Amino acid sequence: MNPNPPMRIGCGYDLHRLEPGHPLIIAGVKIEHDRGCVAHSDGDVVYHAVTDALLGAIGQGDIGAIFPDDDPKWKDADSSVFLREAALRVHGTMHGVGNLDVTVVLERPKLRPYIDQMRQKLADILGVDVSAVSVKAKTNEGVDAVGRGEAIACHAVVTTYAEVSPGP
Ligand code: MG
Repeated sequence: MNPNPPMRIGCGYDLHRLEPGHPLIIAGVKIEHDRGCVAHSDGDVVYHAVTDALLGAIGQGDIGAIFPDDDPKWKDADSSVFLREAALRVHGTMHGVGNLDVTVVLERPKLRPYIDQMRQKLADILGVDVSAVSVKAKTNEGVDAVGRGEAIACHAVVTTYAEVSPGP
């Protein structure tokens, strides 16, 4: 078995309850809305799902194992901290981030006006070109808690590739 395969794939998923009186931050972008995420950290569902996808690609567990949600240190934490740590760990395996594909499931508001800003924020943190980052948004067609506007969910898939070490 190749101890450092040329490519790896990781997937991540996250969901947060939405309630009035909380900020709504999605992929680092603060969005005006009548409710936001109930969470220990800032509740950024995209950063959490992408963090898990990166950790999954390199087989290093999940966000909760590294940043426990019962640790006061991470109370109201800016979730970019989690994402940066996951990206560092990817590089620690001699891999770089290839591309990222994200789907946010949210009944409202419409995210289209924010999508490019979200892509840029993710690209900046991961150190990749924005063309390597896709963010898509869809509703849950009124079905279940997400469809009733009581929750937001996110799916993320990333690839990583083995970095060629410089020659002698
Ligand atoms: Mg989360």
